[in-house]
Amino acid sequence: MNKPNVLIVEDEEAILEMIALNLHNNNFKPYRAINAEIAEQVLKTQKIDLIILDWMLPGMSGIDFLKRIRIATNTSKLPVIMLTAKDQESDKVLGLDYGADDYLSKPFSPKELIARIKAILRRNSPDLVDEKIKYGNLIIDSENHVTTYKDILIKLGPTEFKLLYLLLANRQRVMTRERIVEKIWTNETEVDSRTVDVHIKRLRATLKDYGVSPSIETIRSAGYKISEESYFE
Ligand code: CA
Repeated sequence: MNKPNVLIVEDEEAILEMIALNLHNNNFKPYRAINAEIAEQVLKTQKIDLIILDWMLPGMSGIDFLKRIRIATNTSKLPVIMLTAKDQESDKVLGLDYGADDYLSKPFSPKELIARIKAILRRNSPDLVDEKIKYGNLIIDSENHVTTYKDILIKLGPTEFKLLYLLLANRQRVMTRERIVEKIWTNETEVDSRTVDVHIKRLRATLKDYGVSPSIETIRSAGYKISEESYFE
């Protein structure tokens, strides 16, 4: 799976590097910015999944940058964890009021930060964090790229694998074709949503060969959803 991209906005180099190292060691891809202006440039060119934002920054403050992030349509829902040296309850409230998803006071343990990041991503983009999903007798392991059903190895093409993983990671939700395209063909611009239908068809056929049917529901004029877990028993 793609590593989640995390942007760190922090002017203190030691802290910036400490966070970056911990992100790297926990399978995240860190992006660094020492001020809001640089962070804004990174947001324009990279697909960022979460921001760690320091409150005290030279130039535009963290809280002002957070306001901007929330106003801009493409980043309005981007998860943000605020960092601050101030240990004041009022700042925490202010940060959360302006739409921070979580808050950590310095000094914090890197372990705690990673746990918070994972908790937020699990809520917002479960496909980015879960490494192994068990659904009935189906097990899909994104780390080792292995899928089994009743302990039998299922051979899936790379796209079908990603598709199944995505549907399972979002098992409570309907995935639109647009969202599937966005999540699977991240770097390609010209992917027709019909392409999704082709791969869904292939995936269904493979699962049917292994005795799983129905495996994926078509939700009219919306998209696709993984079938009830009982079908995978
Ligand atoms: Ca700072």
